[in-house]
Formats: sequence, structure tokens, C-alpha cells
Amino acid sequence: MAKKKTISLEGAVKTDAGLTYKGVIMEPIVEKCEGCERAVSFEEDKFCPTYARPEIKWAKGICNFATHVSTEVNKGGKVKVNPLKASKRAARGR
Ligand code: SF4
Repeated sequence: MAKKKTISLEGAVKTDAGLTYKGVIMEPIVEKCEGCERAVSFEEDKFCPTYARPEIKWAKGICNFATHVSTEVNKGGKVKVNPLKASKRAARGR
């Protein structure tokens, strides 16, 4: 299995408008992104290299690039967190 590459936000610049990366203003990840392997830390915040505005992404439903939730939505529209990944995350977050 190929190892996942860690995406870095090297070259990103913090401005008053937010974090700019390759000419795009990036907003910090939202609560629902917590645990997603795509989120990248930059200084004290985390950003998503896949979606510059995670909040908007989640406002429309489940993020289809999320690594920590199943793409299945139950009838209540609740996001299901993959239990294995959640436990790994808990172990990491000691
Ligand atoms: S891929 Fe989706 S869930 Fe993951 S950090 Fe980005 S917006 Fe959040």
C-alpha cells in the first residue's frame, strides 16, 4: 500500500483576510473536520488543502473528501464517524 503523502502548506501567508495559499484565501477547518486526515496544521490553526472553505462544504452536507466519516448518511442526516479511525485519533490525541 502506498503511504499517504502529507500535504504541507509551505508558502502559505497569513494575512488579515485569512491564510492565503496559492492565491486562495483559506478558512480554518470546522468542528466536523476534526479527525479528517486531510486537515493540515498551520501555526495554531488547521486548514484543508482540499477545500479552502470547509464550513461552506459542510453546510451543503457531508464533505465527500472527508477521511473520517463514512459517506453514508442515516435518515437523521447525522454524520457517522468511523469507529476505528475515531479510536486511533483518541489514542493519538493523548
Ligand atoms: S476534506 Fe472535508 S472534512 Fe476533511 S478537512 Fe477538508 S473540508 Fe474538512
